Amino acid sequence: MKDITIPGGKNAEKARKLMRVFSPLTGTELDGEYPVARSEEVQYAVEQAMAVYPVFSTTSGAKRADFLEAIGEEILALGEDLIQRAMAETGLPESRLLGERGRTVGQLGQFAAHIREGSWVDAILDPADPDRKPFPKPDLRQMLVPMGPVAIFGAGNFPLAFSTAGGDTASALAAGCPVILKAHEGHLGTNALVNRAIRLAARRTGVPEHVFQYVVGDGYITGRELVAHPGIKAASFTGSFGGGKALLQVANSRTEPIPFFAEMGSTNPVVVLPEAMAARGDVIGQQLVWSFTLNAGQFCTNPGLIIVREGEGMQKMIDAMHQAVLARQAELMYGKGIRTNFDARTQEMLQAKSVTLIGKGPDGGPLDGQATLARVHAVDFLIQPELQHEVFGPFSLIVICPDDDSLKQVLRSLGGQLTATLMAEERDLADREDILAELVNRCGRLVWNGVPTGVEVSPAMQHGGPWPAASDSRFTSVGTQAIRRWVRPVSYQNVPEALLPKALQSANPLKIWRRIGTEWTKEESGMRNQE
Ligand code: NAP
Repeated sequence: MKDITIPGGKNAEKARKLMRVFSPLTGTELDGEYPVARSEEVQYAVEQAMAVYPVFSTTSGAKRADFLEAIGEEILALGEDLIQRAMAETGLPESRLLGERGRTVGQLGQFAAHIREGSWVDAILDPADPDRKPFPKPDLRQMLVPMGPVAIFGAGNFPLAFSTAGGDTASALAAGCPVILKAHEGHLGTNALVNRAIRLAARRTGVPEHVFQYVVGDGYITGRELVAHPGIKAASFTGSFGGGKALLQVANSRTEPIPFFAEMGSTNPVVVLPEAMAARGDVIGQQLVWSFTLNAGQFCTNPGLIIVREGEGMQKMIDAMHQAVLARQAELMYGKGIRTNFDARTQEMLQAKSVTLIGKGPDGGPLDGQATLARVHAVDFLIQPELQHEVFGPFSLIVICPDDDSLKQVLRSLGGQLTATLMAEERDLADREDILAELVNRCGRLVWNGVPTGVEVSPAMQHGGPWPAASDSRFTSVGTQAIRRWVRPVSYQNVPEALLPKALQSANPLKIWRRIGTEWTKEESGMRNQE
């Protein structure tokens, strides 16, 4: 089947710049050439998205749910081709990619169920009171509506679950927003295959063709053009702090600024308290090394800071971590640039004042990330804010706090985080209750005696956090609540029944949960406008 997504049609085939993908697995360029979108093609893609928006935004939840489920089925139908291509492009192991495919299909299914049920539109009906003095109260009804065409930047480290048909795309399509994806240059072949699956699903379910399109960029120009285009009404991003911040500035400096949801990673502090260390320091140490080295540490939830309150069991924990690091085989990183950054950032950390290396795992191939563990005293950590910057890869820094005061100072110095973890016994918190509040103030997800890697796709998940972890801490990029990034509330005042969306009609034809006055109910409302 011909790949039909690159906008611009046949005229755009001439003298176009082509991208190829480098394989970290083979060390060679892979088959396949991917045309870079020209400015007029970005323009064309946005125009097409704008053209389909009125139809797509008003399709029923049931129809959009069918579409999302069909995308999942078409992704599975790609079979081994998809997994093999993703392995070649990212170097990630097969087991990890099979799991990621399951997650991708699963989250498409979760969004489908969410919109098929329908109550997510948060309908609120507030009855009129014509007799109210001095002025009558109007009939007011509010619900969430899709914002318009949106731009999405796929992540490099999750070629399936945070990319082409990943959580951002699934949530935007679920909301009724056409999507234009800026494809990640590291897995353009995987992207093209998944794009094909989306297109087939659209045809099967009768959804307009241009609800999903992608563009391939050259440098950063294409992505910036996309975010700057007046037809784009919101955008999301997963990746580096520099990239997220640069694109946020583009979004904010438009004539019409738009919401921009950047998830930019974090150091995910783990606080280890004395009673827990005394009871099971060796087990905690092994758990943490496993977590920060998994898949070469290429997770935004990687525990990169381990903040320890000195006490009995600390040395046992550090020794266990040391041994686990020495035994940890290096793993392939997903790109040359990622590996180069990892080396450079690790060196910066090890050359910082009073940071000492605890141990390194065995060296691997030229693109492998070597597990690395270092330590620093709280005093030296506090005077070097750069030690808080993320090292993307299998690196973690232990911060030793000799007393509760230094522990609290370290916690108060931390910026916003996606996650914060407490390794503790409940009695550890008897005199340190405020530690919990300090962590909650700084993170999107608090983990109790676990590891932060492994982000469950759940309606209760918060994957985001205060700056610099994310650009807007009120929203999540994982789980069904992620749909809220793509909608805005609209109030309908005294609008006749026949002109109201079904979700707001008095008879409640969709049978959804609605708030009428102060009650949540699925019942009809007694409210009647001019019918
Ligand atoms: P990235 O460099 O931030 O790139 C992500 C996407 O944004 C790509 O499509 C990239 O375009 C685009 N982009 C980046 N900077 C831009 C800018 N200034 N203007 C316009 N577009 C821009 O992420 P990456 O390539 O996946 O990895 C690089 C680093 O990101 C890692 O070393 C790590 O520190 C961090 N990272 C964080 C997370 C996370 O979950 N938060 C995930 C992965 C990586 P191109 O494709 O054209 O480069």
